[in-house]
Amino acid sequence: MDKKFMSFLLKNVHNEKEIIKGTYLQYKLDFQKNEKELKDRAISEIINSHTKDVTYKGKNNVTYNKTCTPSPKDIIIHNCKSLYYPEWTLNFKAKQKNYTVSFAESAGDIFTIRDDTKICQICSHKLEKNRWYCTYCGSIICKKHLKLTRLRKVKICVNCSITKSFFGAKKYFESNEELEEFNNYYASMPIYKKAGENPLLIYSIVITIIIGLYFLL
Ligand SMILES: [Zn+2]
Ligand SMILES: [Zn+2]
Repeated sequence: MDKKFMSFLLKNVHNEKEIIKGTYLQYKLDFQKNEKELKDRAISEIINSHTKDVTYKGKNNVTYNKTCTPSPKDIIIHNCKSLYYPEWTLNFKAKQKNYTVSFAESAGDIFTIRDDTKICQICSHKLEKNRWYCTYCGSIICKKHLKLTRLRKVKICVNCSITKSFFGAKKYFESNEELEEFNNYYASMPIYKKAGENPLLIYSIVITIIIGLYFLL
């Protein structure tokens, strides 16, 4: 596939280069219908959208159900213009994840119909900017589900990481080796440094002390 086009599709995805290495299939359907087929299709769409089930009571006090359908001869199409909007469907795989992107193309413009790369693969939230790619499983994710590992500072999705709490704060690891390494490092830390693993706790203690002092003085 056109590299320029692929990068357009994946702009704002961090680490997108990994995805470009993925596989893909593409389909572009040719213009397939002639004017008569288009008119017939339009007529059947109009008939469908105007068909209604009605219930009414006759003079004999009996309730009747009837489906009212317009007849094709009630519909006159005065003018018909054919426009070609080829629909593209791209399926590509990044690691274990499959993505589908489909859109209609017209005069250099693109109308997206479906774009799996703009949905967080973990929480299904819509993503515009700030999409992140997990190089471990191939998921495109939101910032909330992206984690930085504690020692190696690797970007990883929450599903691929190993989680463990240290001093009440959750820490993320890419492998058991990294966790093991940090466990040993943590064990050798003095207590004040261990507390540093949970800055939120430290801040709240400091704020509590400041508030306490304010009331005491
Ligand atoms: Zn998410
Ligand atoms: Zn992942």
